[in-house]
Amino acid sequence: MEVKLISYSQPVNSDGDKNPLSIAELAASVCYDSEPTDTYRIVKGCKATGHRSVLEHISFTFEVSGVSRALLAQLSRHRHISLSVQSQRYVSMDNFDYVNPFNGEDADVFNNMMADAANNYRILKEYHNAANENARAVLPNACCTKLYVTINARSLIEMSHLRLCTRAQGEIRSMFQLIKSQVATVCPELAAWMVPSCEANPKYPFCPEGNRCCGRHPKLADIYKTVEK
Ligand SMILES: Cc1cc2nc3c(=O)[nH]c(=O)nc-3n(C[C@H](O)[C@H](O)[C@H](O)COP(=O)(O)OP(=O)(O)OC[C@H]3O[C@@H](n4cnc5c(N)ncnc54)[C@H](O)[C@@H]3O)c2cc1C
Repeated sequence: MEVKLISYSQPVNSDGDKNPLSIAELAASVCYDSEPTDTYRIVKGCKATGHRSVLEHISFTFEVSGVSRALLAQLSRHRHISLSVQSQRYVSMDNFDYVNPFNGEDADVFNNMMADAANNYRILKEYHNAANENARAVLPNACCTKLYVTINARSLIEMSHLRLCTRAQGEIRSMFQLIKSQVATVCPELAAWMVPSCEANPKYPFCPEGNRCCGRHPKLADIYKTVEK
C-alpha cells in the first residue's frame, strides 16, 4: 500500500504561513469578529467546543495505491469525501494484483485461489467474449485498486475516530495511519487530532466499543462503576 499527499489547502495571501490551519483560523475569526492568531487559538477553541465546521475549509488530496476493493467498499461509505477510482470497465484486470491478508501456508492457499480467479476472468474474456465490466463479476474483493481521495480536515478527524480504532479492519487502519503521517508533515496540529475515538478527548479517554474493547482504555461503564463506589 502506498499513500501520497498530492495537495492540500493553502492561503493565497499569506506572509509565509502555509499551514492549512491558518485558513480555518481566518474562517473562525470571522465568526467572532476577532483577529486571527498565529497560534491558531481561535480554531483550536472551535475544535475543543465542537464548532467543527470551520475545519471543513481545509482539504487534503491523497493518491492511494495497492489497496483492495474491500478497502474501497469501506472508504466509500464516508459521505463527505471525493473519490476518483481506477475503472474495472476501462482498465483490464488481466493478471490483477491483490492484497493477501494471510501469512504462511494460509497465504499460499489464498494465492492459489487468486490464480483461479484470474483464470476465470481470462476464460470469460477469451472464450465467452465478455467485456471487462461483465468479466469483473468474478474478481475478488482482494483485487487491488488505485484511487484519489479528497478529505476535509473535519472528516479526517471524524474518520480517524472510526478507522484508527484498534478494532478497525487492519487494511483501512493501516491506510489511515499512513494518511495521518502524511498530514503530520504539513499540519502537525491536525495530525494530533487524528486519533481513535477513545482518545478524542485526551484528558478523559474511554472506549465506546462495549464488549469489543481492546483494553487500551477503560469502558465508560467501568469508569462510572468506579465513580459510583
Ligand atoms: C467497525 C465498523 C464496522 C462497520 N460495520 C458495518 C456493517 O456491518 N454494515 C454496514 O453497512 N456498515 C458498516 N460500517 C460502516 C458504517 O455504518 C458507516 O457507514 C461508516 O463508518 C461511515 O461513517 P458515518 O456513517 O458515521 O459517516 P460519514 O458518511 O463519514 O458522515 C460523517 C457524519 O456525518 C453525518 N451524516 C452523514 N450523512 C448523514 C445523513 N444522511 N443523515 C444524518 N447524518 C449524516 C453523521 O453524523 C456522520 O457520522 C462499519 C463501520 C465501522 C467503523
